[in-house]
Amino acid sequence: MKGKTFTEIRVDEKLCEVCDKPLRTEEKVLKTVQINDYNSYSNLLTRQRAHDRVEVDLEEKKIYVYHHDYPGEVHQSCIEKL
Ligand SMILES: [Zn+2]
Repeated sequence: MKGKTFTEIRVDEKLCEVCDKPLRTEEKVLKTVQINDYNSYSNLLTRQRAHDRVEVDLEEKKIYVYHHDYPGEVHQSCIEKL
């Protein structure tokens, strides 16, 4: 792996208060990241451990950084189960 440019995308997952599953997600392109060798790739992954979850799509050259958020909402179907 050498000299690849990845797009870093922040994904905000709005989670349901009842079931912890996403109500919706919001994606925002943060920046492009240059990955020159395996070291910068593994550095990236180490750095990203501070986040809730990171997924790297090697084919699409995208890095998804997930953040969890509880907007104080629940699924309609979860309300009915309560
Ligand atoms: Zn739910």
